[in-house]
Amino acid sequence: MANNQANNQAQNISNFIGGQWVASRSARTEAVYNPATGEIIAHVPLSGSDEVDEAVQAARKAFPGWSGTAVPRRARILFKYQQLLVEHWDELATIITLENGKSYAEAYGEVQRGIECVEFAAGAPSLMMGKVLPDIATNLESAMYRYPVGIVGGITPFNFPMMVPCWMFPLAIACGNVFVLKPSERTPLLANRLAELFAEAGLPAGVLNVVHGAHDVVNGLLEHKDIKAISFVGSQPVAEYVYTKGTAHGKRVQALAGAKNHSIVMPDADLDGAVGQIVGAAFGSAGERCMACAVVVAVGDIGDALVAKLKEAADGLNIGNGMEEGVFLGPVIRESHKERTLKYIEIGEQEGALLLRDGRKDAATEEKGYFVGPTIFDGVNSSMKIWEDEIFAPVLSIVRAETLEEAIELANRSEFANGACLFTQNGSYVRQFRETIDAGMLGINLGVPAPMAFFPFSGWKKSFYGDLHANGTDGVEFFTRKKMVTARW
Ligand code: NAD
Repeated sequence: MANNQANNQAQNISNFIGGQWVASRSARTEAVYNPATGEIIAHVPLSGSDEVDEAVQAARKAFPGWSGTAVPRRARILFKYQQLLVEHWDELATIITLENGKSYAEAYGEVQRGIECVEFAAGAPSLMMGKVLPDIATNLESAMYRYPVGIVGGITPFNFPMMVPCWMFPLAIACGNVFVLKPSERTPLLANRLAELFAEAGLPAGVLNVVHGAHDVVNGLLEHKDIKAISFVGSQPVAEYVYTKGTAHGKRVQALAGAKNHSIVMPDADLDGAVGQIVGAAFGSAGERCMACAVVVAVGDIGDALVAKLKEAADGLNIGNGMEEGVFLGPVIRESHKERTLKYIEIGEQEGALLLRDGRKDAATEEKGYFVGPTIFDGVNSSMKIWEDEIFAPVLSIVRAETLEEAIELANRSEFANGACLFTQNGSYVRQFRETIDAGMLGINLGVPAPMAFFPFSGWKKSFYGDLHANGTDGVEFFTRKKMVTARW
């Protein structure tokens, strides 16, 4: 099996079904670009729902064998997979930078996040354990046994081509399920390499399948009667659609959605520490993170000093091709996303926000890649669209507030509630923030409070649809169902 597509430029990407590379029958394809250069690096097929069905058939064939494989044997394949991912770390990070545009250092970190998911999933023998109460009544015992749900579909976004798929298929598969993955059509290369390495680790054919495409594949997964669960990560409107349609078709669905994360900076904060964290969180990965800092709320008299330091730090960021040494800020994903971002900058000006740093003026924006420089608006308020919408680009809004209550009340007005951060040295502020902020992932004196693989990725409000979050024991619950046995002997 040799399908190392990143090394073979502008080739047609195949689906991976039943352990084979299968050319899509669809005549429709989409170009995959290197966002740093605008060059076409591959063509991804827009597969049809018939191809989803083929993958589901392959998965169904694999299910009895895989779910019947002893859990420690399944775990051993995950251990081997972990080793292979570590061995190929550099190659995987290079593919991420090539197709997504984020800096190589960020991509390298993303590979680590993906590997951590595999490490968590390799704990399947402990995670799959049931529970027993030997004496629920005289001579009566009750036991809970855990089983896989069956065929699981995964639908992933462009912004984490490795980490997000790894939130899904390693744990689902470790729990004994079989999987059909539909990666983002904008970053399809890495998914094939992940599937290839898993097969090399000894995963039987049909346990992990990859079907490339867009809406038709998503709908094919949502409507397929044999698929029992859908794990989705992407934008809010699509998450709502996937959740509504998937549950209407009788599936369990977890749908992780968009965000507009606020960072509140108190007057007693370590200013330089806060600035470093906020700049990393607002402009790292070109702002294309669901845990990006999109709004800073400066409380009290720290505002002017904070704003000045943020601008100075943003001025010092190195913009360019993520493969180049020292580059911090890469391109956004597509020309259309660059245009959308520039439109939001215009909207911010029209709304009366103060454009403190104009990312349209950075030299890199003249290049062929889809670059937008770090952009900062001061004087933003919650009636503005630039405050309300997820821009998903290196655009940071600053709001001023008098008190922590006011700052929290403002953040809580957002329909999104993924993450929120507080910068302070004061424990009582931390407590007040923790108890009253509407957000599922909180950071104290750090910019990107993304939980590790053994904790749930726990967005609230319109940042998440479903009950059980991705990762951690929530993930195990999501990918398993239980049998209760009550016995009298
Ligand atoms: P997206 O919603 O455009 O795409 C996600 C997936 O849905 C892709 O596989 C895509 O093919 C599919 N899709 C897109 N439009 C569709 C439609 N109309 N019908 C059916 N399927 C469709 O998201 P994206 O731009 O790739 O990713 C960025 C978004 O993902 C941001 O909003 C970001 O906040 C969010 N995200 C959230 C989390 C989280 O944990 N909450 C993590 C990462 C990304």
